[in-house]
Amino acid sequence: MRPEILFPLFKPLTALDGVGPRIAKLIEGLAGPHLADLLWHLPSGLVDRRFSPKVAEAPPGAIATLTVTVDHHIPPPRPKLPYKVFCSDDTGTLTLVFFHAHGDYLKRQLPEGTTRLVSGKVEVFGNDIQMPHPDHMVPPEDAHKVRIVEPVYPLTAGLTLKRLRHGIEGAIAMAPDLPEWQDAAFRTREGWPDWRTALGQAHAPEEAQDLEPLTPVRRRLAYDELLANQLALALVRLNMRRLSGRSINGDGSLRNKLIDALPFDLTGAQQRSGQEIAADMASDSRMLRLLQGDVGSGKTVVALAAMLNAVECGSQAALMAPTEILARQHIKTITPLAEALGLPVVLLTGREKGKKRQAILDSLADGSIPLAIGTHALFQDDVAFKDLGMAIIDEQHRFGVHQRLTLAAKGRAVDVLVMTATPIPRTLMLTAYGDMDVSRLDEKPPGRKAVSTRVLPNSRLEEVVAGIRRAMDSGARIYWVCPLVEESETTDAAAAEARHEHLKEVLGDRVGLVHGRMKGTEKDRVMAAFASGELSVLVATTVIEVGVDVPEATVMVIEHAERFGLAQLHQLRGRIGRGERESSCLLLYAPPLSETARKRLEVMRETEDGFRIAEEDLKLRGAGELLGTRQSGLPEFKLADLSVHGDLLAAARDDAQLIIDRDPDLKNERGQNLRTLLYLFERDAAVRFLRSG
Ligand code: ADP
Ligand code: MG
Repeated sequence: MRPEILFPLFKPLTALDGVGPRIAKLIEGLAGPHLADLLWHLPSGLVDRRFSPKVAEAPPGAIATLTVTVDHHIPPPRPKLPYKVFCSDDTGTLTLVFFHAHGDYLKRQLPEGTTRLVSGKVEVFGNDIQMPHPDHMVPPEDAHKVRIVEPVYPLTAGLTLKRLRHGIEGAIAMAPDLPEWQDAAFRTREGWPDWRTALGQAHAPEEAQDLEPLTPVRRRLAYDELLANQLALALVRLNMRRLSGRSINGDGSLRNKLIDALPFDLTGAQQRSGQEIAADMASDSRMLRLLQGDVGSGKTVVALAAMLNAVECGSQAALMAPTEILARQHIKTITPLAEALGLPVVLLTGREKGKKRQAILDSLADGSIPLAIGTHALFQDDVAFKDLGMAIIDEQHRFGVHQRLTLAAKGRAVDVLVMTATPIPRTLMLTAYGDMDVSRLDEKPPGRKAVSTRVLPNSRLEEVVAGIRRAMDSGARIYWVCPLVEESETTDAAAAEARHEHLKEVLGDRVGLVHGRMKGTEKDRVMAAFASGELSVLVATTVIEVGVDVPEATVMVIEHAERFGLAQLHQLRGRIGRGERESSCLLLYAPPLSETARKRLEVMRETEDGFRIAEEDLKLRGAGELLGTRQSGLPEFKLADLSVHGDLLAAARDDAQLIIDRDPDLKNERGQNLRTLLYLFERDAAVRFLRSG
């Protein structure tokens, strides 16, 4: 249970003064649903209002706080013209300019003949010194409220800085003093303030350098977050080790049949990974292994073989995918193979409902079905297996540690294999998986043709469309990927819909559309039509990013490629070049390109090597690329930035290990405080593994 001291921080945003449901929604999209999330929303800039020149000396463009006498008001002579208030000091006249003004309000704020402090941006028009819409207008006795430095925060459409700042101030005011979880000696050596102080200072920058990630204040907060991450992973590992495993060591009968049934030979890498997995399963400690292989490297067969190993021993196996499309894809590949072996498979997603779902649950509970494939639906509370021995989690980075564990908890000593197509650099690997064992599929199945990649400005779109028409005529199948507009699926979908309309006009009816806002059945129908060739062009949002397999597709167009991260571009492009035919990828961009965007596209043109791309990605993100982590699917840190806080990650990992060695159940005083840390960063699942609450 979450400690009481943290209750105030986990209140909803509406608990704040002046925050109603509408504003709460905006803030939630920006930061998160709880007050704690507001604490992590650190300033990205500041406004310094301490500069107080005379009117005549106020430089245009500067933020300044001026002390002036209000001379007279001039309401707009015609609608649409601004309301003006003329003010002055002994050096000159300052005109305050207001559009859409309420005269009554301004008369009350700025009575003629009074002295006022006005703060805002100074502008000069001809000989006129102006301040449009001052941020502050107060009587002299309130000067202390204005001549200050104010933090500036990243915003979202519809949310004003003032409101957000007010919310954050409210959240900080509610933040309790928390007991220190850092090692005392370490904290002294680093010169870090306590948590509450660090938080306050992080939100009250005085100078530009206070915003740098390497200040003691920011480093402390980053370390807290990294320590929570590393400690949670260490606890998960510890828990895995504590739970006794069991040996799963089938006689190979089903696997041999599988190999006979496959229309191809396994690659060397597939064989090697298969052996590593089998050895882990055979041992009586629990398996926690990562199968890492670039898109198209053939992970599915390796996964199926591991599942069959469990079935050979009379137990069940489950494969969980992050999206419904993917789960269906897996079932499509696996069902014919399983049928050849005489094994029934079920699919369980959010869409199986009522009687049908109940029948599936029954068959899993009584063990009559050995193989289950599904989405999150697989770890709902009412899903039970007779004897789950093997759990595979595909494209793991989309799931949290918590979900991974919930599935594993559905059986006795379940062996867990996690599959990912993201070639993850070592440092990031640590944050996502801790010290997991890894098998790598570093060899592609034979016969794959290279994908030729071209980068074009979107002014050549119509040319590209003409090329698509020719490709269609020769029977090609084409993905057309629409840009990520915002984090919202709704806007992405709108962009895709518009493009779909346009392409249908030019290319005819063989153009389909799939996006995340569509109903599941509708998505399936479109995907099936594309897979069968009934549709030639599939306009899509990034729902096709992971795993979708239509080997006949040979062309991919990505619009606004500059908006995608490298990892995501690589994933997307992996959808083509799967068959025997030459494939090409067209990356369309909207100029002008930022330096990092240009480099990303260049890397894409130069190489198809996932590991090289991952490394470049990290380097470019180090240069301040914000899109990176979210799109590569790795855990996102709110306070830590691995491109600058790498040393802290290593320290946090050692610290976590030491903590676990000395006080594995977090019982002593520091241990108790560390529990609070875990809850603060919502690593609740990890706390549940401790032997005593
Ligand atoms: P991944 O999940 O790693 O992206 P898949 O398992 O979906 O890759 O495999 C991609 C494609 O390659 C599938 O069509 C699969 O049947 C095929 N494939 C897998 N292994 C081999 C192999 N050894 N030789 C030839 N084709 C293979
Ligand atoms: Mg796959």
